[in-house]
Amino acid sequence: MSYVDEVIDKITKENPGEPEFHQTLNEVYKSIEVVVDANEEQYRKDALLERLANPERQIKFRVPWVDDEGQVQVNTGYRVQFNSAIGPYKGGLRFHPSVNIGIIKFLGFEQIFKNSLTGLPIGGGKGGSNFDPKGKSDREVMAFCQSFMNELYRHIGQDQDVPAGDIGVGGREVGYLYGQYKRLTKQYEGVLTGKGLTFGGSLARTEATGYGLLYFAQEMLKANGETFEGKTVTVSGSGNVATYAIEKAQQLGAKVVTASDSTGWVYDPEGIDVALLKDIKEVRRLRMSDYAAERPSAEYHEGKGVWTIEADVALPCATQNEVDIDDAKNIVSNNYLALSEGANMPTTLEATKYLQDNGILFGPAKAANAGGVAVSALEMSQNSERLSWTFEEVDNKLANIMKNIFKQIEDSCAKYEQGNDYVAGANIAGFEKVAEAMQGQGIV
Ligand code: NDP
Repeated sequence: MSYVDEVIDKITKENPGEPEFHQTLNEVYKSIEVVVDANEEQYRKDALLERLANPERQIKFRVPWVDDEGQVQVNTGYRVQFNSAIGPYKGGLRFHPSVNIGIIKFLGFEQIFKNSLTGLPIGGGKGGSNFDPKGKSDREVMAFCQSFMNELYRHIGQDQDVPAGDIGVGGREVGYLYGQYKRLTKQYEGVLTGKGLTFGGSLARTEATGYGLLYFAQEMLKANGETFEGKTVTVSGSGNVATYAIEKAQQLGAKVVTASDSTGWVYDPEGIDVALLKDIKEVRRLRMSDYAAERPSAEYHEGKGVWTIEADVALPCATQNEVDIDDAKNIVSNNYLALSEGANMPTTLEATKYLQDNGILFGPAKAANAGGVAVSALEMSQNSERLSWTFEEVDNKLANIMKNIFKQIEDSCAKYEQGNDYVAGANIAGFEKVAEAMQGQGIV
């Protein structure tokens, strides 16, 4: 058995009931096998792969809060501080009923390599809770966020661990979390990113993941002689990542014809109306069915179905494992050119392989959606400097970071003869830097 297979087997057995973590462990470790084989003796002796797959620390805590009826509710909070070899832990908080330790570990593990690819000094972490902000009043969301921070504050800090948003955690939640952190610690510091613009937030952070996804996909298309001009694009999701991916795709001359939420999806052959989408989702906090009701050109369908639509580029921006093998078959038979992942691990391993085997250009999440964390790191820099950069400055830096990520991937693909397997290229480039930093710091 190879060293990689031995470690996958061992870590899987030691961490039962964490299928999403096992999935990412398999994807990453199998695709870096070529590097591991070349350094096997040293890595084995240092137990490098075992150390990398074990979080430095994982914290689980009780979050009690009182709802609007006076009833006490109890949720579980998590923060997994996975790897600090190249910088303080950095990664979002997810509030969604599906959250459990396996999901947070999958996200935290991915974050290590993603953060490494940005070229910025940030380690990997992730956290969250099984709390569902949907349908809760503002007061209930605030009560939950304050209680969550009452425990989390002792584990984070601007030079230790800097959380941000993710599913269910947007500007409102980050604001409440930050307010409570400041109250508990008396520190006005860059301990959370995605903050409001009047209290240390960075311009272009809201747009960063979606815009970055398009900058990355643009590079991937360019390397293969294509552009977004005149292309049709399908997007899933209608949250932060999806909204700004749609906006940037339209700016680049593409037509985006779909968006979705967890109850249904919209097909809008005239192109998604981004102003209406923002008003429905960000201001009025309504559903995609409400978008369809207010947009005469849009059809609403219950359930899943975005990838049945014919288009050129697919951008899954909702959640993990939303593109399965049946969706991949639809994407291939509809003659798509490319798929680039906006969400984290939206494509199953089987679907990824099928797409790659059938010549679909595949942009993996840890590279394609790294724009969010990259601008979060730029927010940290601005907070440390006590300065604010303009939208254009941040957006230009973001575009350059995404270009550079694609270049690192291409270089790794060339160095290790991986063709245009960008999954392998991203994992190898992200891994090499972290591995070198871990080895340089001794057995810790
Ligand atoms: P939001 O909460 O803003 O939006 C999430 C969207 O996905 C909503 O449309 C939501 O629908 C849908 N969704 C969530 N869960 C499910 C599900 N189980 N099935 C179907 N649809 C679902 O989150 P973000 O846009 O911030 O995050 C989307 C993805 O992007 C996640 O995978 C996240 O980890 C990743 N990501 C986010 C970054 C960021 O900066 N925000 C950075 C990098 C990655 P509904 O409203 O019905 O729940």
